Amino acid sequence: MPRETIEIRQNVPLAPLTTLGVGGNARFFARAANPDEVEAAARFAQDRNLRLFVLGGGSNLVISDRGWEGLVIAVGIGGIDERPSDGQLVFEVGAGVDWDGFVAHSVAQGCGGIECLSGIPGSVGGTPVQNVGAYGQEVSETILSLEVFDLGENRFRNLSAADCRFRYRTSLFNSTGRGRYLITRVRYGLTPGKPPALRYRDLQKHFAGCENPPTLQQTREAVRSIRAGKGMLINPDDPDRRSAGSFFKNPVLSSAQHAELVRRASARGLEVPSYPALEQQHKVSAAWLVEHSGFRKGYVKGNAAISSKHALALVNRGGAAASEMVALKDEIQFAVEHTWGIRLEPEPVFVGF
Ligand SMILES: Cc1cc2nc3c(=O)[nH]c(=O)nc-3n(C[C@H](O)[C@H](O)[C@H](O)COP(=O)(O)OP(=O)(O)OC[C@H]3O[C@@H](n4cnc5c(N)ncnc54)[C@H](O)[C@@H]3O)c2cc1C
Repeated sequence: MPRETIEIRQNVPLAPLTTLGVGGNARFFARAANPDEVEAAARFAQDRNLRLFVLGGGSNLVISDRGWEGLVIAVGIGGIDERPSDGQLVFEVGAGVDWDGFVAHSVAQGCGGIECLSGIPGSVGGTPVQNVGAYGQEVSETILSLEVFDLGENRFRNLSAADCRFRYRTSLFNSTGRGRYLITRVRYGLTPGKPPALRYRDLQKHFAGCENPPTLQQTREAVRSIRAGKGMLINPDDPDRRSAGSFFKNPVLSSAQHAELVRRASARGLEVPSYPALEQQHKVSAAWLVEHSGFRKGYVKGNAAISSKHALALVNRGGAAASEMVALKDEIQFAVEHTWGIRLEPEPVFVGF
């Protein structure tokens, strides 16, 4: 059988393919719309000994000003198939499908499980990588299995949810297996008729006083509207729109670290806020740490800034270099560590640094 070929472009600007909008070019670039093209692109990289980077929707990336010297494969695999199984609907979704479009589809089908993850930008294939989460739900709660192209063994494989080793903002794909797997399809088990998850205080507040419990659709709309108020929904008219979402993870502390944080806070007459959603494992709010280390929303440093709506989102005000975003990140990390003894860990993926 003839081998599939794929169009390879050269010196392709990556900034427009990301939500933050910074960084240089890909030396080689291919868009893979099906598994054969994935294999062909991987072969192109292997034959030339090129490093390979997998691009989804570009919503969690900081591309370096130098760009990427190897091959970028943009995953454009589409399709949503569904079948009933054990009281659930199993959705098998191509990695290139727009995530929020899929959430809208599942909610319209009356299926619960991912309604609180409405409004997160990016692709379906990007969601397992950092186990996306918001408003009390994490995608790992509904992922049944994945199809990947294993770049180490040059073959397609199925991985179970257990294989993916999901934890808070962590999985196989951004830890020990980083760079090894290209996700081609994800299978989600969603439950028809399941009531919406209202675990998060913002959501409970939104519906307080309503006579009837909200529907999945109303919950989706509420999440999107709360996100819009925080600049966490991409809106072309919003001056804070160029971001990678939260720039830092909420730190997970040991009991001793947490006690030290509480001691430092009370020495300053402050109380560390506790949110039910963050309390397991002493997870503390990174936004609170940033705002109590000398920064405020709207803080500007050259073409980089802290969003005027959310202390955790670093934004490109227009024309920023990646180095400016990194300088602001470094300044915040230094101040938080100096003030609280806690090193904030960035959430986005740094590419080509
Ligand atoms: C405004 C805004 C709000 C956000 N809100 C949230 C939020 O509430 N919760 C949250 O968790 N995240 C949030 N994010 C971050 C981001 O949207 C998610 O992490 C998203 O899932 C990233 O998907 P992507 O397709 O854009 O991946 P990309 O940004 O393209 O890539 C991110 C990483 O995933 C890898 N990757 C992508 N696709 C594949 C694939 N098919 N196979 C293998 N690896 C792949 C890339 O190599 C890279 O390492 C937000 C971002 C923005 C800009």
